[in-house]
Amino acid sequence: ENEQLENIKKQIAEKKVELLHMQFVDIEGILKHVTITIDQLESAVEGKIMFDGSSIKGFCPVNNSDLYLRSDLNTFSILPWSIEDGYAEARLLCSVYNPDNTPYEGDPRHVLKRTIEKAGRLGYTISIGPELEFFLFQMDDKGVPTTTPHDQGGYFEPSHDLGEKVRLEIYRTLKAMGFKIEASHHEVAMGQHEINFEFKDALTSADNATTYKWVVKNVAKQFNLHASFMPKPVQEINGSGMHINISLLQDGQNIFLDSEDELKLSKNAYYFINGLMLYTDQLSAITNPIVNSYKRLVPGYEAPCYIAWSTSNRSTLIRIPAKRGNATRVEVRHPDPSANPYLAYAAIAEAGLKGMELRELPVDLIDKDIFSMEVDERNAAGLRHLPDSLEAALVLMDKSEIAKEILGTHVYNTFIALKREEWAQYRTTVHKWELENYHSKF
Ligand code: GLU
Ligand code: MG
Ligand code: MG
Repeated sequence: ENEQLENIKKQIAEKKVELLHMQFVDIEGILKHVTITIDQLESAVEGKIMFDGSSIKGFCPVNNSDLYLRSDLNTFSILPWSIEDGYAEARLLCSVYNPDNTPYEGDPRHVLKRTIEKAGRLGYTISIGPELEFFLFQMDDKGVPTTTPHDQGGYFEPSHDLGEKVRLEIYRTLKAMGFKIEASHHEVAMGQHEINFEFKDALTSADNATTYKWVVKNVAKQFNLHASFMPKPVQEINGSGMHINISLLQDGQNIFLDSEDELKLSKNAYYFINGLMLYTDQLSAITNPIVNSYKRLVPGYEAPCYIAWSTSNRSTLIRIPAKRGNATRVEVRHPDPSANPYLAYAAIAEAGLKGMELRELPVDLIDKDIFSMEVDERNAAGLRHLPDSLEAALVLMDKSEIAKEILGTHVYNTFIALKREEWAQYRTTVHKWELENYHSKF
């Protein structure tokens, strides 16, 4: 750690870094930061930066609100866009601690760390590669985001407009911040994009997802565009997912691979899939946490609605991509980018691990397009539906032991209370659709 700190100090001197953003996320995964001057670095490392936890969503009550930030040196990066201004800024992602130095139970980063430790005790490292899709929309004259896409492009299409440029600039920025980018492409919908980064251990991937969302929004703004990670920003057009590709490593070896098996999958891989099939519906308020999330999970837009698994079928919840060897993995397709990545990765990993504990095989895979199956066919195949609203997801989460176990009591209770409030606001709002359909008729 000392060597790492020396290295950071060297970079700070070289690039003339003046300011340091101490970043962390709230219960919804929204990035927060307090900016300190660089001579406070030692305090940051020692966890002496205090803040008022009662002002952060899902954190602590006013009568017990002093919390401390301790930086994770692995996450140090200089902000590429600040260098040109003459003096540079850097950032560090932090974990949150109580005044007595114990991990703060409301910190989502701790929730994921707990899952990682649990897997570690079983001898596994959780490896995750997320795919976060997003839209680029135009701003109106007043700088308010519209839902008008910035281009006319479709899947894999090179466009001759801003889109390519913005994506290139995002790529450069992320690379300068230490990301290893694997590919980027135009997604199916107009104005929709995806940039894929290398899979990593679960904590690094959640940190990366957080950074990615921040960088994409920042860079888009430089081009006067609005980047949106909202799951379904435009009706009747593909929404944005955050597919989670997950595998478990033991001594660096992927335990989902078994070359003897028909699909080259190990028993543990099947058990893991079964765990996901059993528990993802109870956990979908975590992986799909907003009202709008459930408007994406409808037939016809490459997002799943039914709890099923397959190899190359994109209508199922779980897909096993063709890659084998150490890249053997399970792709979970229902999560969306409005999810808090720390909580979502913990949820998916634990659902799978629970399946490995149960040691039961999943029902048969489905290679048919589920959306074109008749009702009786779906019923005969025993297909369950994912919750179709935030409310339905919360009803399941209310009764879910595993959700409570994963999140811990504080986050579990706070999360549900917050989401119930969100749903209540939505439910009591009179929407445009109601006026259009009922106002003149009744
Ligand atoms: N945009 C689709 C979704 O909502 C996914 C498309 C893809 O397979 O990459 O999940
Ligand atoms: Mg995609
Ligand atoms: Mg995918």
